[in-house]
Amino acid sequence: MTMSKIRWSEAPIIYLPIPTCPGCGTIRKPDIKHVDRAGDGSFSRQCVCRECGARFVLVFELPESGEVHSQAPMIVMKGMEHGT
Ligand SMILES: [Zn+2]
Repeated sequence: MTMSKIRWSEAPIIYLPIPTCPGCGTIRKPDIKHVDRAGDGSFSRQCVCRECGARFVLVFELPESGEVHSQAPMIVMKGMEHGT
């Protein structure tokens, strides 16, 4: 099955949350300091916020299968602290 010729109105939609800084909450693209590739296609990025300088790691995991998923890939932000 080819998906290259379908209409845009019929194209599957993949939702990706925009990573936000755990320190200040900005969606401004962080400075990428280092990329670690796991070898299976997943990878993580060591990031530094351009606004507040907070360090955090973005982890991009593989989908559970090669299929198109309606759920957005899990993005884990280490060091995130939730205020209560
Ligand atoms: Zn920040």
